[in-house]
Amino acid sequence: MAQIYDRVALIGLGLIASSIFWGIKRADLAREVRGFARSEETRATARDIGLCDVVCDDINDAVKGADLVVLCVPVGVMGTVMKDIRDSLKPGATITDVGSVKRDVIDQIAPLLPEGVNFVAGHPLAGTEHSGPRSGFAELFDNRWCLLMPSEGTDPSVTAQLRAFWEGLGSNVEEMDADHHDLVLAVTSHAPHLIAYTMVGVADDLRRVTDSEVIKYSAAGFRDFTRIAASDPTMWRDVFLSNKEATLEILGRFTEELFALQRAIRQGDGEHLHDYFTRTRAIRRSIIDAGQDTDAPNFGRVPGRKP
Ligand code: NAP
Repeated sequence: MAQIYDRVALIGLGLIASSIFWGIKRADLAREVRGFARSEETRATARDIGLCDVVCDDINDAVKGADLVVLCVPVGVMGTVMKDIRDSLKPGATITDVGSVKRDVIDQIAPLLPEGVNFVAGHPLAGTEHSGPRSGFAELFDNRWCLLMPSEGTDPSVTAQLRAFWEGLGSNVEEMDADHHDLVLAVTSHAPHLIAYTMVGVADDLRRVTDSEVIKYSAAGFRDFTRIAASDPTMWRDVFLSNKEATLEILGRFTEELFALQRAIRQGDGEHLHDYFTRTRAIRRSIIDAGQDTDAPNFGRVPGRKP
C-alpha cells in the first residue's frame, strides 16, 4: 500500500498507539513515525522494543513537522495535551484522537485548534484489557470499525486521507455524529464495563465470606467479567466521567430490565425468562454473522492451554 502520510506523530505510547505503529509498519503507511510518552519509563521501553522510528523526550519535537498527529492518551487529558502541542503544529497538519468518548473530547480540542490545522476526531472500536507500550500488535484493528467525526468545515480530502490511513490499518471506517457515537458506545461498551466492574466487585466482597472459592471455582461467566474488569482504571474512570449523560441513561434502562427479570424469578415466570434469553441469544448470533466475534465455544479458548 502507498504511504498515506509523510510523518506521523503518536502522543501517548500505550496499547492503541503501539498497535497503530505496528500497523503503520505492516502496511508502510508513513515514511517516519515519531512518538512521545509522558514518563521516562515508557519512553525507555519504547526505545527498547523499537516502538516508533524516533522517540522524543519533548512533546513538541514529536509533533513538529508531522502531517498527522494522533492523540492516544486518556480522554480526560486530551485538552491538556492539545495545549502543550498547539504552538508546534505544522500548518495544514491533521489532528486526530482515538478516545473512547467523542463529544467531550471534541469540546476539549476544538477551541484550542490553531488556524490552518484540521481536526477529525476518531475512535477505533478495538482494544484489549491490556495496556502499555508492550501490549500493541499490528492486527488489533483488522476488520474492526473505526468511527470518524470531522469538525464542521473540514475539507473532505482531509477526512478521506484519514479514512485511507485507518483502512490501511485494517479497519472498516464510517463517519458518525459525536452524540450518537456516545450513546451507541454507552450501550455496547461503557455500561457493560461498569456492569463487569460491579459483578467482579460483588464477587470480591463475597470471596471474603466464601474463603476464595469464587476464584478457585471461577466459571466461564465470571471469568469473562473479570477479563473486562481488568481494563485500565485511568482510561475507564475518564470514560465514565466524560460520557456521563449517555452512560446514566443506559444504566437507568438496565436497572429497569434487571428489576423486571428479578420479578420474573421471584414470581416463577419461566416464560418471561425464556423469551428474554431467546431474544438475547439472537443478538449474539448477529454479532457472529457480522464477523465481530468468533463462533468457537468459549471464545475459542482451548482447555488447559494458556491464552
Ligand atoms: P494505555 O495503554 O494506558 O496508554 C496510555 C498512554 O497515555 C500512555 O503512554 C501514558 O503515558 C499516556 N498518558 C496517560 N496520562 C497522561 C497524561 N496525563 N499526559 C500525557 N500522557 C498521558 O491506554 P490505551 O488503551 O492505549 O488508551 C489510549 C486512548 O485510546 C484512550 O483515550 C482510550 O479511551 C482509547 N481507546 C482505548 C481502547 C482500549 O481498549 N484500551 C480502545 C479504543 C480506544 P505513560 O505510559 O508515560 O504513563
